[in-house]
Amino acid sequence: MQGKNVLVMGLGRFGGGVDSAIFACKSGAKVTVTDLADESALEESLAELAGFDIEYHLGGHRREDFKNTDLVIVNPAVPPDNRFLQTADKAKRLITSQVEIFFQLCRCRIVGITGANGKSTTAALTAHLLRKGSGQKGIGYRRVRLSGNIGNRPLLEILDELDCRDVVVLELSSFQLEQLSRIQTAPDVSVITNLTPNHLDRHGTFEAYCAAKENIFKFQKGRKNEPAVSIFNAEDLITAGWFELYNKDPQRCSLTFKGADVPDKFQKVFNLPGRANLSNLAAAVVAARQFKVNDDTILQALATFQALPHRLELVAQIKGARWYNDSIATTPVSAIAALEAFEEPKIIIAGGYDKGLVFDELGKEIAQRAKAAILIGDTATKIAGAIRMGGGTGVQVEFAGSMGQAVNCAGRLAQDGDVVLLSPACASYDMFTNFRQRGEVFKKLVTKLAEI
Ligand code: ADP
Repeated sequence: MQGKNVLVMGLGRFGGGVDSAIFACKSGAKVTVTDLADESALEESLAELAGFDIEYHLGGHRREDFKNTDLVIVNPAVPPDNRFLQTADKAKRLITSQVEIFFQLCRCRIVGITGANGKSTTAALTAHLLRKGSGQKGIGYRRVRLSGNIGNRPLLEILDELDCRDVVVLELSSFQLEQLSRIQTAPDVSVITNLTPNHLDRHGTFEAYCAAKENIFKFQKGRKNEPAVSIFNAEDLITAGWFELYNKDPQRCSLTFKGADVPDKFQKVFNLPGRANLSNLAAAVVAARQFKVNDDTILQALATFQALPHRLELVAQIKGARWYNDSIATTPVSAIAALEAFEEPKIIIAGGYDKGLVFDELGKEIAQRAKAAILIGDTATKIAGAIRMGGGTGVQVEFAGSMGQAVNCAGRLAQDGDVVLLSPACASYDMFTNFRQRGEVFKKLVTKLAEI
């Protein structure tokens, strides 16, 4: 990139664009950042880039930027058929992304984790088990890093600190895997947690979404004396099918996991609630064992593992009811997993941005498992319809115009022994900046309610 013109397309608010821009600047490139959003929407990201010599073209893209640059670093949120990318492609400009640059330059082994749900939890758990393992006698690696869509530090920032004895654990989205397919690259150890429809507004069909996810196995190559490792969920219909397929490849080691098979001794010390989390644990254990982490080490590690923020996170106990923040539940499946995690009577707060998902199953589950549903956001009426269709005549359904109203309503309905669950089943963009802000707003409101 030294002396080259680099165009960062999509600064965004999640750190990837900032990481790419800083990397390009430090590599000696002349950097332009372009984004559809304007300055005020990108305020936080722009603040992180203060002090770097960057030209900004915000509030829209310019065709000539894509024609005249040497290289475009594309945000994963941009679909590959974007017309500006086509312009760059026609002009024979190199198109790459944060994740591609990372894979091309990373010196150490990469564990990649993808799936519709449970990616972050599984990635954090795997890194936690491997970290404990690094102290074990005779273990074959040194330090462990956690990055990708998770962790405190983004991909390109940690690149220089990695050496070949380290292991890096990455959470990878379907968008990033789509980008990696461009250079036909994949992790050394690949894990898929499960597959259910998600991000259909971008991928179009479930088949296209699955195809993007499959890239994590398709392009695995393995290293000298070390075959690639592919880890599949045996309890998920599609990924179990993939195991049958990839297991035939003699060049790789294919393995499966089952939440139901997690040994009792592990379950006893594991702090996270619910069946879905057992599935995540099972995946992490298979990955850790692959690096020869032993059961004693796993046991010790599990005793100190805490839930990640916004994932079935206990916020408060108010008049005998426990309130959980599960704001990260942006799909119906994850909200269903949350409903399944508790035996207690449940009041669920759900609804949000409409990304074209279907709520039939969620409606049925709420009808069967919840005593009340408080619905917010663009999808509120859709979810109410699904609850009705699911036979939910015994469920009290309420609508709320804001999170404040929803929390107050839940406060009125909650009784001793209940669980109140913010598990929206939808993204947050209709009312909030992102799921974190939604969770923080909820936590503040609940903490206030606890003080009354
Ligand atoms: P991701 O990174 O894939 O979004 P997280 O680990 O952050 O996954 O969890 C997101 C949400 O999905 C949480 O609400 C959690 O309760 C739910 N969840 C976690 N693991 C699973 C799983 N294996 N199957 C279904 N839902 C899950």
